[in-house]
Amino acid sequence: MELNTLNGLSVCHPRTPTDKLPPLLRADRQATIHESLVQAYPPQGPIEHLLIRQLAGCAALLELSDQAILAAQQQGALEVLRLLDNATSDHETRYLLAGTLNSAAVDRGITQTQKHTRRFMALLDRLLDLQARRRADKGARLDEAIARFRNDQQCRDYLIQRRFDGRCPCSSCGSIGGAWIDTRRCWQCRCGRQAGLLADTVAARSQLPLLCWFRAIAVVLIRPTTTTAEMAKLSGIERPATASDVNKRIRDALLHGDATRLLMDLDRVFLGTPLDSD
Ligand SMILES: [Zn+2]
Repeated sequence: MELNTLNGLSVCHPRTPTDKLPPLLRADRQATIHESLVQAYPPQGPIEHLLIRQLAGCAALLELSDQAILAAQQQGALEVLRLLDNATSDHETRYLLAGTLNSAAVDRGITQTQKHTRRFMALLDRLLDLQARRRADKGARLDEAIARFRNDQQCRDYLIQRRFDGRCPCSSCGSIGGAWIDTRRCWQCRCGRQAGLLADTVAARSQLPLLCWFRAIAVVLIRPTTTTAEMAKLSGIERPATASDVNKRIRDALLHGDATRLLMDLDRVFLGTPLDSD
């Protein structure tokens, strides 16, 4: 198929020994290029995956064109040498013929190379543009999430409201009714059980300011590839050991079947939809 577009070159081709086959004809070549592109420009979503596949196909064709040009040039030179060895009276005509065949094939190869190069660059531009916009969106979402809670009081108000909204069933009786006892800073269920705001959450028994927890959860949810050090910086956690523990607890919670409850329903707030399908 693609080879046919380069058929003009086969005029100058001798029978190709198997070990001299162009890379595209080796089954693994396109896959290898694809793999390198995936590593260089990690794709997300169907459009980026499609662009990467198209880029890999284009790069493979580009390699083939380059090899075809080289083969035409080499074969042209061989042809001239052969004519020199068997010089006859009309050798000048045959020189011309060899030169014409050779340059026509090379010209055609160069045209193909230019075409594939233009297409490759256009596809790459499109991919980079898409990825830049995706990263910018994510950055804006994270900034927005981090700015959503500005101090511990706002976090506490959110957690109290979460109780009133009935999102934290009592761990003894399962009821969602009850009252907030401000003096004791706890929620008292109808059954009499009292629970702190962080009971049954990823932050239970933690002494860390609520704002640090909220921001750390926002970072892990919105930008999961963030390192512990970056997460600590963005969430204001000073001790590296604490940052590491917080990071691990949040990531463990994400693997838990009850992630939304453990993350204090902040997935609803930061992602717009809860992680759990309840
Ligand atoms: Zn209860």
